[in-house]
Amino acid sequence: MDEIHDQNTLVSFFKKEVNNFVNSRNWKKYHTPKNLIQALMIEAAELSQCLLFKGDKIEHILKDETLLANISDEIADVFIYLISIINVLGLDLTKAFIGKMEKNKSKYSVKEFNNGKYYKK
Ligand SMILES: [Mg+2]
Repeated sequence: MDEIHDQNTLVSFFKKEVNNFVNSRNWKKYHTPKNLIQALMIEAAELSQCLLFKGDKIEHILKDETLLANISDEIADVFIYLISIINVLGLDLTKAFIGKMEKNKSKYSVKEFNNGKYYKK
């Protein structure tokens, strides 16, 4: 079997994996949207904590294997809770992503926001 990585993995794989993990532990009763969103925020804070009081130069981050491993773990935690929220609410991640990207493209047109401009005055 080929190694699993971003280029050969479908969103449905993540949704099934998280769903099986939750169901096999009988945790569905705890997975309300509110609880999952709060857990997501806690994991996002843990991700932020990885760089707390550290330089934010990309070269320094990429040289530190332990830091990169911690960041990778916290990104996975955030992603797992996002997938849990999607599962509980019956959302389609791909449709949500495409719909929001279209809104972003319209809101932040290349014509207005090129040259490093990041916000409207
Ligand atoms: Mg974590």
